[in-house]
Amino acid sequence: MSYTYWIDGKFQEKENVSLSPLTHTFHYGLGVFEGVRSYKSVSGNVNIFRLKEHTDRLFESAKIVGIDIDYSYEELFEAQKEVIKRSNLGDAYIRPLIYIGSERLGLDIEGIDRHAMVTCWEWPSYFGAEALEAGIDVMVSSFTRQFPNSLMTKSKICGGYVNGIMAHDHAKKNGFQEAILLDTNGFVAEGSGQNIFIVKDKKLMTPELTCCLNGITRRTVIEIAKDNGIEVLERSFTRDELYTADELFFCGTAVEITPIRSVDRINIGSGKRGEVTNLIQSTYLKTVRGEESKYQDWLAEV
Ligand SMILES: *Cc1c(COP(=O)(O)O)cnc(C)c1O
Repeated sequence: MSYTYWIDGKFQEKENVSLSPLTHTFHYGLGVFEGVRSYKSVSGNVNIFRLKEHTDRLFESAKIVGIDIDYSYEELFEAQKEVIKRSNLGDAYIRPLIYIGSERLGLDIEGIDRHAMVTCWEWPSYFGAEALEAGIDVMVSSFTRQFPNSLMTKSKICGGYVNGIMAHDHAKKNGFQEAILLDTNGFVAEGSGQNIFIVKDKKLMTPELTCCLNGITRRTVIEIAKDNGIEVLERSFTRDELYTADELFFCGTAVEITPIRSVDRINIGSGKRGEVTNLIQSTYLKTVRGEESKYQDWLAEV
């Protein structure tokens, strides 16, 4: 499969792209990115889900780490649609990345060129189709989510993912599919790269935005829940509240709505996808494919 990428304003075939080994972001992780998804709709057209919100967050992420983006909002917005179109993709993942160049290594970034790229690839479900139905087994990680004043938490900073990857990898090596990270105070933060929701007594609960990313899927879940008359609480909660939840699920662009069937080998509720999770998940999956008339504004046609 040949993919077309957008790099610094130009469309390039994947095979023809090269980057300097001295690219600063490779060495120190100072860069920011987004994870966006496109879906083929029932009518056959391809839509990107919440492209505006993802593009907004990309600019905010860059601002947080102090890297200017040399391209306009419109250019990056259109570039994300265009790589999907030119690569002939339907269900796919889009990865905008803002990174800094190879003029000089060292921690002083003044005067180093800023770059932007948008890549894409075909990507079906994250944990496999079965996980969306059966749910996954997770563990509470011994790694702590980064403290808000170390790496901050509202930006998708490249280097921040070392923490998530180590937690994820440690969980996999111990026979789990994913990790849940706690914050510095011991409260539940999120997954390695996805937000988390508890269902208890038909209400939804998710950690407030202190130590987790302000996920776009998180916001989507909150809206869908409220539109269905389900109350949503944003508050700190503890590890044992995970164990005693009626239902649990992860949400994120990549994982969509993935039920969690056990935490630390303790079954959650009935150990199967619950009713509320099912409602949120099916509404979400219909929404991204353009089957929910109420949420058409969230789709940007490619
Ligand atoms: C990207 C990400 C999420 C999910 O965000 P979405 O906008 O829903 O895709 C959650 N947590 C972390 C740490 C992330 O990087």
